[in-house]
Formats: sequence, C-alpha cells, structure tokens
Amino acid sequence: MMPAPNGHEELLTRRGERSGLQMAIAVHSTVLGPALGGCRMWHYRSTGDGIDDALRLARAMTYKAAAAGLGLGGGKGVICLAGAGPAAESRRDALLDFAEAVESLQGRYITAEDVGTGAEDMAVISERTSHVVGLPPGLGGRGDPSPLTARGVERAIRACCSHRFGSADLHGLRVCVVGLGHVGTALARGLAASGAELLVSDIDSGRRRLAEQLGARWVDSEAAMLSRCEVIAPCALGSAVDEVNAELLRCQIVCGAANNMLADESLAERLREREIVYAPDFIANAGGLIHVSAELHGHDAARVDDLVDSIGETIERVLAEAELASMTPLESARELARRRLSAAPAVPAT
Ligand code: NAD
Repeated sequence: MMPAPNGHEELLTRRGERSGLQMAIAVHSTVLGPALGGCRMWHYRSTGDGIDDALRLARAMTYKAAAAGLGLGGGKGVICLAGAGPAAESRRDALLDFAEAVESLQGRYITAEDVGTGAEDMAVISERTSHVVGLPPGLGGRGDPSPLTARGVERAIRACCSHRFGSADLHGLRVCVVGLGHVGTALARGLAASGAELLVSDIDSGRRRLAEQLGARWVDSEAAMLSRCEVIAPCALGSAVDEVNAELLRCQIVCGAANNMLADESLAERLREREIVYAPDFIANAGGLIHVSAELHGHDAARVDDLVDSIGETIERVLAEAELASMTPLESARELARRRLSAAPAVPAT
C-alpha cells in the first residue's frame, strides 16, 4: 500500500500477478459509506498517469455521492493497459487481478463498470469479490444505467429552466443534445416527448437517422456547441466547454451528462459572468450512480425513480444558493457536498 496523497484515505497500487498489468485503487473518502466508483480500463502514457486519474476520479465520486445523498463514499479503480490491450484470456486475468485487489480492501471500496469495462466484466470480478455492482441482470444487476442518467439530466434541465425562465415546461424550448450515445439518445427521446424543439449532433453521422426519427434538426458536430438555443446538453466526452467556446456560447443554460464538462473549473466563473446557467455535471449525471447503488441498498424501481427525480430539486437548491452567495453553481454544489460530509457522524477510532 502506497501512502495516500493528501485528502485521500487510501491508495493501493499493484502489478497484477496473472496479467502483469499495473493497476490502482484510490479511496478518497468513506466518511458517508463505502467508496463506490467504477473500474476504468484504459491506455495511459504511464502508470503515474493512471494513478493520477484514479485519485482525481475518486475525489469526484465523493462529491457526486454526497450531493446525491447516497450514503456512499468516493473511490475509483484503474487497470493500465499495455500495448494493444488484452486479448480475451488476458482480459479475464486482468479482471481477476483487479478483483483480488478490491477484495483486499475488505469492502472499503466497491467497484462497478466504467470507461473500458462493462457488466460482463463485473461478472468476472464477482468471481473473486462480492464488493462489485453493475452486474448483468442474471446476476442481480439492474442493467444499463443510461436511461436513468438521462432521466436525471432531464430533471436537471427542467430545474435550470425553472431558475432561468420561471417555468420547467420544455414545450417549444430549443435544446441541443451534443452526443447521441447511450445517454444522449435517451435524453433526446424524453425531450422530444416533452415538446422541446430538438437540435442534435454526433461525430458519428450514422446517428443522423435517429435525428429524423425524433423530428430533430441535425447540427454539424463542429458547430453544435455554438448553436443558438436555450439549452446546450453536452452528452459526449469531457471538456465540452473550453476557453474558446465559453466566450462564444449562444445558449442560456449548459446542462448535460458529460463528466468533467468544463475543460477547466475556472470556466464556471466565466459562464456566471456571461449569465449562462451551468448545472454541475456531477449532480446532473448522478442518475447512473443512483441506479447502480440500488443494487447495494436493495431499492426498488420506484425508490430509484424518486431519488433520480430529486436531482431536479438538488439543482434548484444549488442554483439558488449560488445566486444568494454570489458564487458559481460549481462552488455551491461543492459546498453542499462538503456540508453533508462534515455532518456525518465521526467514525470511532479502533
Ligand atoms: P457513449 O459512448 O454511449 O456516447 C457518446 C456519444 O458521443 C457517441 O455517440 C459519440 O460518437 C459521441 N461523440 C463523441 N465526441 C463527440 C463530439 N465531439 N461531438 C458530438 N458527439 C460526440 O457514452 P454515454 O454512456 O452516452 O455517456 C455520455 C457522457 O455521459 C460521458 O461523458 C459519460 O462519462 C457521461 N456519463 C454517462 C453515464 C451513463 O449512465 N452512461 C453516467 C454518468 C455520466
């Protein structure tokens, strides 16, 4: 076990015995409960980059779980791929190695799927540890989290509209969904059903057919972020808002699913100066986390829906508090998470 950097509780790094791959698990906080966070299988330039990613993402998970009121902490795992990535057999080896690392933390960290891993991989991990969620339905899992992530984002968009326009009604509002993948597609369908005037975009022009089905206007991906509309909903990769387009955005609200939507956190201030309402991504996109955490808590579908719908109230609160305190919604969201963390009963020393 390496000494954990400031602010994190634990950092485990090891070379997998079977796979020979470097892997790391960062536990940022277990103050509110066990640290839940996905296992990312990715090519990093160095093991150090992989460890940095795990540390950064673990911290973000603490804030996400705290803001969603889930009674969970924040952690993240990474498996650093080498060369062309593992063939089927060595992929299994890497997952079993990772599973043993998870098991060694005795439940302080719970893993799940993330970039580069899926439900079938979690099934392999479950052969060596029970501290895993996001399993296939046949093994007690709840299936694809994307529809619930989309549902939460729609609630967040409505909350932003309520804050900005005094009404959560989406009828006739122009919303541009950037990225028609798992979440973007579900979100676009929901928005279309709610009467929004849809603009959609993807780097994959094959998604154009979906635009036609939804009666949406297709926008070139180069220009999508600068569409003239009420709401831009980034649902592709991170850094959708960068230093260049932050000056040029022609929307009034930025609210979507993409993680790390701001290329730099200081852009939250720039959006505030430009009077563009920004919904912090770690609150707006928490539906997927709520969905997988239901496996742990045994929540039924109705309870999950209620929790996901409460994302709208959380966004309303964060925006109102930000306005009152003349701070950005990002700072206000962090404050909310910090208050929940500091209100948690102290863990007795053993
Ligand atoms: P996905 O891979 O299914 O979809 C991403 C889509 O974005 C793809 O169709 C891709 O072609 C498109 N895309 C990539 N770059 C683009 C660009 N520059 N312009 C337009 N389109 C582009 O991913 P997903 O599961 O839908 O997740 C979307 C985002 O939401 C990610 O940032 C993810 O981290 C975040 N998120 C997802 C979930 C979930 O439940 N899936 C939960 C929380 C956060």
